[in-house]
Amino acid sequence: MAKPFSYAFYHSAAWARARESALIRDNHLCQRCLKAGEITPATMVHHIQELTPDNINDPNITCGLDNLVSLCDRCHKITHGWARDGATRQGLAFDDNGNLICLNE
Ligand SMILES: [Zn+2]
Ligand SMILES: [Zn+2]
Repeated sequence: MAKPFSYAFYHSAAWARARESALIRDNHLCQRCLKAGEITPATMVHHIQELTPDNINDPNITCGLDNLVSLCDRCHKITHGWARDGATRQGLAFDDNGNLICLNE
């Protein structure tokens, strides 16, 4: 299986730095839960404008803090619509690190 177009980016030092900056800004808390008054540790950083083959080389999109938000696993799946639809028939999806994940917990 071919690696997703974003695989190299998610393994870059630039992303590691941007991800850490977003987590620090968000106090390592899920921002979606926070809006609902819940305190949940963030487990990942999500791109608000999703990465595509067209914008993967645009640093403002890939690493701009305005495009990043810290989320917990559950909120991340809801944000992507995975929790509702399931990404594939097998219940699998690519997470924001380019890894294949199982959605059937
Ligand atoms: Zn959350
Ligand atoms: Zn995401």
